[in-house]
Amino acid sequence: MFRFRSIRSRLTVTFLAIIVAVMFIISLFLYNLLQRYYQNGLQDSLTRSGNLAAEFVAGHLREQTDPSVSLSRFAANFSRQSRARVIFINRQGIVVGDSERIGGLLGQPLNRDEVLSALEGRVGTSVQYSATLRQRVMQVAVPVQGEGGDLVGAVFLSASMQEINVILSAVLRFLFFTTLVAMAVVGGGSVILARRFTGPLEVLTAAAGRMGEGKLDQRVEVSSRDEIGQLAAQLNIMAERLNFYTSNLKHFAANVSHELRTPLTSLSLLAKSLQEYEMEPEQRQEFLADLDRELDRLIALVHDLLELTRLEEGEIQREKIALDELLREIINQVSPRFVRQGLRLISDLPAKGVFVAGSPPHLRQAVHNLLDNALKYTSPGGWVRVSLWLEKDKAGVKIEDTGHGIPVKDLPHIFERFYRVDQARSREMGGTGLGLAIVKETIDAHGGKVWAESKKGQGSAFHFTLPLVY
Ligand code: ADP
Repeated sequence: MFRFRSIRSRLTVTFLAIIVAVMFIISLFLYNLLQRYYQNGLQDSLTRSGNLAAEFVAGHLREQTDPSVSLSRFAANFSRQSRARVIFINRQGIVVGDSERIGGLLGQPLNRDEVLSALEGRVGTSVQYSATLRQRVMQVAVPVQGEGGDLVGAVFLSASMQEINVILSAVLRFLFFTTLVAMAVVGGGSVILARRFTGPLEVLTAAAGRMGEGKLDQRVEVSSRDEIGQLAAQLNIMAERLNFYTSNLKHFAANVSHELRTPLTSLSLLAKSLQEYEMEPEQRQEFLADLDRELDRLIALVHDLLELTRLEEGEIQREKIALDELLREIINQVSPRFVRQGLRLISDLPAKGVFVAGSPPHLRQAVHNLLDNALKYTSPGGWVRVSLWLEKDKAGVKIEDTGHGIPVKDLPHIFERFYRVDQARSREMGGTGLGLAIVKETIDAHGGKVWAESKKGQGSAFHFTLPLVY
């Protein structure tokens, strides 16, 4: 279908317009050049013939005052050779010989500009349209000089330009057909060329449309390695990512609903039981304690979800901070809880300041999460060590424990949202399953790396790095 707004039709129309414009300019130039060439040629040949005739008639013209039949015959001879009407004019401007016998100008004055110029000694020329001949004619008048060099008259020649017009029309016709052929070739070529370019674009548009409708498993099949091929590859990557994020989001939303439902169901049950059943004060107290615990779990979950959303949403504000100071402060803060649980909290921090670009509240939250986990998953009698190490342009923090460790198969997944090695234990400990996901998002946002090492039954070690600033 021909749609003017499509690239294909615009390309074709543009090419055709260029061809027409170029051919028009070439035709105009060529036409003018040829016209001038042929016109000059005719003028030269008429002037030459005129000069030749002038030499012959010079002797006769001097005394010739009356029209002469012999001069007319002479003019007729010249007319046949030069294929022009030949007229001899005496000094007084009277026609004394005319190759046109019938209806000629014999005996009449010929007051034409060219003749007047010739009688003044200059060659006169003009081109004009003859209504009687219905064609353009060229007139040339040459002066006739006597033996002494004095002006004795003029020779006037008038020739049809029909031949030139025939040649020029043939050239124009040729140019016109050449233009048509060029238009056909270029038009056809541009349609094929445009189809080659726009074909893949149409495939891309259709695929993008389907992706827009939500069919993100669409892939575009464009094998070319040009810009369109690259665009297709980028579109495929984009669709793949979108697909990944969308399914992640769905998965996450399902997980969140599930995580919320558990404490909410417990809360509902507890509230209903409290309402419906008569209870002893101790039993009521127990129910209320359970209710409180479920509420705490809900609050922790909402807090972690908000934290994750904030981390995902935008840039975190970083400043130059002493990492060793921050760790010391956190250790002092949490150590009473470790002591209460019968765990030793060892700190292995350098004396001098280690500076990184970081957001103190976010880093504090990340370290708290790691220490909370160490506390949750290490049995009394064990120890937890926080150490700080330096390497080239980064600082590394290691938090190791002598807890029950993480099975090898679970290690690659523990930073995923809601991933728990032991669901029941995590819940029982008040875990939301989001602690390590928050740690990972935080360290990623700081341009660092986080990873874990563990041996089941022997303990775990969590590492993260941050770029140093000086
Ligand atoms: P949770 O709130 O369940 O602790 P996290 O994201 O903090 O969620 O941790 C994910 C899982 O990784 C935990 O459920 C736990 O199984 C495991 N885990 C994390 N830290 C430790 C640790 N120090 N020792 C043993 N297991 C750990």
